[in-house]
Amino acid sequence: MPSIAEDITAEVAVVGGGPAGLVCAIALATARVDTLLIAPPPQDDHRTTALLASSVTALKTLGIWEACLPHAAPLVTIRIVDDTRRLLRAPEVVFNAAEIGLDAFGCNIENRHLIAALYKRAAQLNLPRVAEPARALVSDASGVSIRLAERTVRVRLTVGADGPHSFCRTAAGIGTVRRAYPQTALTLNLAHARPHDDTATEFHTESGPCTLVPLPGRRSSVVCVLDPSSATTLSALTDEEFAAEIERRVHSLYGTMKVEPGRGKFPLAVETAHSFARARVALIGEAAHVVPPIGAQGLNLGLRDAAALAEIVADARRQNLDVGSPEVLAHYETARGADATSRRIAIDLLNRSLLTDFFPVQGLRGLSLHLVDRIGPLRRALMREGVAPAASQPRLMRGEIL
Ligand SMILES: Cc1cc2nc3c(=O)[nH]c(=O)nc-3n(C[C@H](O)[C@H](O)[C@H](O)COP(=O)(O)OP(=O)(O)OC[C@H]3O[C@@H](n4cnc5c(N)ncnc54)[C@H](O)[C@@H]3O)c2cc1C
Repeated sequence: MPSIAEDITAEVAVVGGGPAGLVCAIALATARVDTLLIAPPPQDDHRTTALLASSVTALKTLGIWEACLPHAAPLVTIRIVDDTRRLLRAPEVVFNAAEIGLDAFGCNIENRHLIAALYKRAAQLNLPRVAEPARALVSDASGVSIRLAERTVRVRLTVGADGPHSFCRTAAGIGTVRRAYPQTALTLNLAHARPHDDTATEFHTESGPCTLVPLPGRRSSVVCVLDPSSATTLSALTDEEFAAEIERRVHSLYGTMKVEPGRGKFPLAVETAHSFARARVALIGEAAHVVPPIGAQGLNLGLRDAAALAEIVADARRQNLDVGSPEVLAHYETARGADATSRRIAIDLLNRSLLTDFFPVQGLRGLSLHLVDRIGPLRRALMREGVAPAASQPRLMRGEIL
């Protein structure tokens, strides 16, 4: 990628080189919008992301997926197992992608491979990048000035893709609503003796889900949601002890297990920005919304933000409009609000129904899963909505170029 040594002007600056920021910058560059990426070098991230089919379509459309393919495992079947010891337990529910005419619901990939594929595509497109953090940001009537260590960037629109502690969000004066959960997610990847058969299995327990998601070969990623003190105890285990503990928790589903390097620990919270855009700053990904890792929604939502914003900006540019104007920002806010809100409410409800000791809520949860198990059209509608929300499909998610 070209490196830049002096003060810079561009139409759009994308601040943050996580997956949401990189996808947005690549989408803008392919639509020939003059875009600058402001992104310090990525940190090693051993987490994995289950990308739903519409996200995979967007990555294919942008020429990114080919480099992901060797590292991705298809998700053909999803099993939900009620592993609580409660009186009212839900039936086991199994979803198969073929029921809605798909080969797979999506694919699971390690974030480090996804990020590498995104940087590879950015380099092919000669996307300009400064590899340092943004330090200050001031908006005025005609644009935004972003201060770096020794130079300034002047743009019409800043895309805040700088994650949950977003500096861009604060600089634009956008607050958040945040609620911490009494839960911590432990993450790890492991090898196992028996094949996973392209099946993701979610064990629902009283502290939250423990999910095994396929990786290529006889490997899976694990997200185990626990109360914080159990998470601290488990974190102190050696790799061998940890493997045995996970094997116990998943009832030896795949036989003996071996933990790979790169275990992670994430306190869980739900956090939503009061607004998606203000003062020439548009927020995408976790800068706009953080949801707990349940049902693989977080980055899929973030990629829809990235695709929707790139689409709106590219269209505005073609009409010679100011891409940071209040009209363009309002259009983006309207395009993304309902999708983000509905996902947040659904994930929050599901998570809280697991945590509650309130008998009627446990019963309702069991009944809902029972209905989903038995009523075909409801099952299929739920699966379709999970893979590709009807109300919010940016063009890239439908395989159309910008
Ligand atoms: C345990 C766990 C499992 C998950 N599993 C899934 C899943 O299966 N499917 C799914 O869809 N989602 C999943 N998620 C959610 C997903 O990981 C996040 O939504 C995603 O990583 C957020 O991407 P992002 O690009 O918005 O932010 P980030 O990945 O946080 O990237 C932000 C970037 O901004 C940079 N930055 C910060 N400050 C500045 C600055 N001042 N200037 C420039 N750059 C800056 C950072 O260095 C970073 O590179 C999971 C989350 C967790 C915790």
